[in-house]
Amino acid sequence: MGLGAVGGVTFTQLAKLGVGRLFGFDPDRYGDESWVTQPALPEQTGQLKAHVQGRLAAQANPWAEVTTAPAFAQDVPLGVLTQADVIVLAGDNLELLVWAGEFAAGLGKVVVQGAVFGANQHAIVRGFNLSDHNAACPTCQLSEDDWSRMTSRLGCDPATLRLQGITPTQTLPHVCATAGQMTAAEVVKWLLGQHDMVLSGSEVQYNLLAHRALRTVLPRKAACRAPHRRWHVVEVQQELTHVNLADLAPRTCVAHDCDGLSSWQVHAELPWLTRAACWSCGQVYPIRRFSRLGRKVATCACGGAVWSDLDGRRSIIPNDDLAAVWKTPLKKLGLRKGDSVALSSNEDRTWFVLS
Ligand SMILES: [Zn+2]
Ligand SMILES: [Zn+2]
Repeated sequence: MGLGAVGGVTFTQLAKLGVGRLFGFDPDRYGDESWVTQPALPEQTGQLKAHVQGRLAAQANPWAEVTTAPAFAQDVPLGVLTQADVIVLAGDNLELLVWAGEFAAGLGKVVVQGAVFGANQHAIVRGFNLSDHNAACPTCQLSEDDWSRMTSRLGCDPATLRLQGITPTQTLPHVCATAGQMTAAEVVKWLLGQHDMVLSGSEVQYNLLAHRALRTVLPRKAACRAPHRRWHVVEVQQELTHVNLADLAPRTCVAHDCDGLSSWQVHAELPWLTRAACWSCGQVYPIRRFSRLGRKVATCACGGAVWSDLDGRRSIIPNDDLAAVWKTPLKKLGLRKGDSVALSSNEDRTWFVLS
């Protein structure tokens, strides 16, 4: 997650090391000054980091299976995340750490985070073993102060930082590259099962000025803002025309009592669309399925198009809708293979990955 000055270096190095399958995600393009710190050339200004770094990694090892996409971590399908042995965080924003605190912890993944503290020339790598949901998570490490400072502290790309209205830190390219290499080293240890050597709930800061390394244990914060909750993940292989929410529900009822529809919260990676209006005449139609915004979801009696928009959008299926669609095939609810849908009850959440 993040293919910039730290993540880009890690990504190519992992390809060279022969890690079988690599997925890389970064939403950004290179700006005018990005080449100063990033593994990119001035002429690549304007290009997507996901494209440039994907090509570099694929060229570095023609036998590596490399997939990249211009996307935020938050957009990566759960069906991809569940396949990961290690999730690498190398982004310069706070949201990424908060996302990892929920998703990587929910899926019980190993997380390796690469970062820099530019002003002191510190290259930083952190490791978290989130298969233990009570272990320290990336979000645990954020102090109240960090919530406002973190973006500039981790930043390596002057262009993105400026976009966010932040004064770029004086991070030198070799500091970022060092953090990228340290991150690759840590990932390899996890993949090789060298569990006595890995950083697990700890970090190393390497100071390139004094050539000193400092290893610190990262505490599990009792008042962490992340949920520290492990999800169940169930793979669904049936045809989506033959399976509905009522079929899925009993599979999550083993551990607790699930009486009646009202005990369920259902959501997916796509928003739920409860209703939508014709853009020509204003007639409102119930839609009751998952849909991305801006999609045409029906044709009005007047001939006009009905588009999904913010008005009918819900993050979870409202109770009335849930009763109406409980036995509707998942395909009719707008779900496709590769999507995931979550059924939650009390503190428990089960993700069904439609594979
Ligand atoms: Zn935490
Ligand atoms: Zn109409």
